[in-house]
This record gives sequence, structure tokens and C-alpha cells, in this order.
Amino acid sequence: MSDLSRLRADFPLLQQEMNGRPLVYLDSAATTQKPTAVLDAMDAYYRRYNANVHRGAYTLAQEATELYEGSRAKVAAFVGAASPREIVFTRGTTSAINTVAFGWGMYHLRPGDRILLTDLEHHANVVPWQLLCRHTGAHLDYLPLTPDYRVDLERLADRLDERVKVVGISGMSNVLGTILPVARVAAAARAVGAITVVDAAQMAPHLPVDVAALGVDFLACSAHKMLGPTGIGALWGRLELLEAMEPAEGGGEMIRDVGRDESTWAPAPHRFEAGTPPIAEAVGFGAAVDYLSAVGMDEVRRHEADLTGYALERLSEVPGLVVYGPPEVEHRGGAVSFTLADIHPHDLATILDQQGIAIRAGHHCAQPLHRLLGVPATARASFYLYNTRREVDALLPALAEARRLFGVA
Ligand code: PMP
Repeated sequence: MSDLSRLRADFPLLQQEMNGRPLVYLDSAATTQKPTAVLDAMDAYYRRYNANVHRGAYTLAQEATELYEGSRAKVAAFVGAASPREIVFTRGTTSAINTVAFGWGMYHLRPGDRILLTDLEHHANVVPWQLLCRHTGAHLDYLPLTPDYRVDLERLADRLDERVKVVGISGMSNVLGTILPVARVAAAARAVGAITVVDAAQMAPHLPVDVAALGVDFLACSAHKMLGPTGIGALWGRLELLEAMEPAEGGGEMIRDVGRDESTWAPAPHRFEAGTPPIAEAVGFGAAVDYLSAVGMDEVRRHEADLTGYALERLSEVPGLVVYGPPEVEHRGGAVSFTLADIHPHDLATILDQQGIAIRAGHHCAQPLHRLLGVPATARASFYLYNTRREVDALLPALAEARRLFGVA
């Protein structure tokens, strides 16, 4: 990151104090802060362009439609889609994965089929598939982790056969930080005729993404984790799959023709966008990917790898602190989950908050993973492009204070 101080100035929220200290925001895996460019784009939309999209014959509605569809094109370019038609705006990663489960899975899975996930998935990439199994009689299976918190590729061959119809894999773990070998898993899935669905909620904000190079079939992400607003995300899907898919939601905007008993659907992606869409949010999403592209995703990754390496080094100085995740920075992103002796992670988060440091504590929507880790909860510090080494340093005295308060030797 060439000029980080200039970058931080783009984020008004980061300029404040919290509990009498400069705010140290280390919870970007949960949601990210927004640059002025995103706030301004949404403000300008409401002040100057607000109208409902697609149906308007008047100029203002056409301008709003151009902004909305323009954001779709920006998101398409950001993930390397072949066409903007491959981008469906959704409420976020969760609803994107549900769209695939119920639009594709419901029509392609039979009793005895299998869905292969990994042991580190977020609930958003577990529960929709569980619901689908209830409806179809399919079963879930999980690719295990190695002792250093990566997925065990040696077990891939015995987990994959022609009964597996879907492989659901995270691009980057929100708990362990693990970067998953998506392209290798997708190639193996394709060889047995399975589709690959990527939960990119953490990958898209932190790593360059090219869906063509990954060789996957669907990819889901959330704008709010990549500098954009809440309430919107994207499902990228290969066009021929989207075109063959049924909508999971019906209503206005998504139809070609509605009769009294039957209807026909609009082409993708509008088929999957029933009702008035989140227009201002789409505009904000477009501004967010513009911002990230201007910084450069390779730069984002380089900066975060530097911070994460530094954080792992500094945290290793804290007696009793255990980090859960790959030790090598090349295999992980900037979500660093840890426990400190037997101090409850919620207590740790509260003590750090007194020092102005925002971290998250809990199971981070990954209960099956925490059961495997053998802890009910972890504390998690997570970094983004606006964080600094100084903020990592701020963790150390705060953790020392926690040890003192809890009498940890
Ligand atoms: N997957 C992962 C890996 C995540 O970190 C999250 C958000 N914590 C989600 C899915 C769900 O994203 P959203 O709540 O925006 O739908």
C-alpha cells in the first residue's frame, strides 16, 4: 500500500475515538467500513437519480436503470464474468447460495445424491444445503481439514464420485483465514460431473477473483464485506446454468408473461430479481468495486499479507495465546482467530473494547468448525486495507491487560 494514511482518510468512521482511545476497527470479516466514494454515490443516487428501474418510459427512470445495470457490469468485470448477464444481485452471500440451492439443486438432486462441503464452512454454506437435503433426499459429506487447518486434498479423491452433484467450498475461511484451493477442487468436481459453488464472502474482498480461471460454476459474495452497503450481494453463475435454472422467488420484474395459472420467466439475470431491487445499494456496490479496483486487489492482498504476518508474529509473544489457522501467510487471509488461556472470548472482546479495539467473539457462524477445534468460541481480529501495523500493536497491551485482570500467569 503506497500511501496508507491517504487511504484511511477516505473512511470517515475510522476517524473517531471509542472509549477515549482512537478507534481500532479489527472486525472487517464481519463487515467493512465504507469510503466516502461509496457514501457519496448512494447519496447522489437518492438526491439526483431516484426512480424505479426497468419499467420507466421517462428519462429519470432510464438514468436510474443505467446506474443499476452499470453496477452490474462493474461487479461482472470485478470477478471476471464473461457478461453482466451472469451477475444476479441478491441480498448477500447467504441469499445467493440459497438461490443456487433452491433454483438449481431442487431440480437436479435425487435421493442418494451427495453434496460435498468442507469442514470449515460458514453456516451460509451449510444450512441451505441441509434444507435442500430435506427436500430432495440427498446427503451431506465433508472434506476434512489437515492439522495445519487447510483442506485435506488427499481425501478429495475418496470423497468424490459420480453421486456427488454439488461441491460447496469457501474461498477463504472467516475463522481460520485459510485460503482454499478452489481451482483444484473445482477441477476434481468437474471430472465427476459435479458443479462447484464458491462462498466468496471472504475471498472477493481480499483476493483477486477470476471466475474463469477458477473454473467454478457459481460464486457468491456480499457487498458489505467489500466496502459496499449492506442489503446487496452478487451471485455469479455460468450463463447456461442460470438460463436453465428456476427462480426461487416470484413476483414483479422477473417475468416474461403472466397468465392466470402459469407464467413464463424473464431471461437471466432478471429472472432471479423479483420485486423492486436495492437500487441505491447496487450503486454503492458499484462504487465499492471501483474503489477496490483503483487500489488494486493485488495491493490489497499484499498489504493484508504483511499485516497478518506481523500480527501472527506479535501474537506469538503473548503467553497462553493460541491462534487457530495456517501458520504460513501464503495460505491465509487476515482473519486471525485465537483463544487466550481460559479467558472467555466475550470477556476478551469486552476488555479490548475498553481500549477502543473492536474485535468479534463467538462461533462466527461456524459451529461445526468450532466443535472440531474443541472450543465453543474464539476471539477474532480481522484486517482490511485500511488497517495499520500500529493497530496490530495496540492489541498487545490490551491482551496484557486481559491477562492481568484474569490472573493468567
Ligand atoms: N460466508 C462467509 C465465509 C462469511 O464470512 C459470511 C459473513 N460472515 C457469510 C458467508 C454470510 O454473508 P452474509 O451474511 O453477508 O450473507
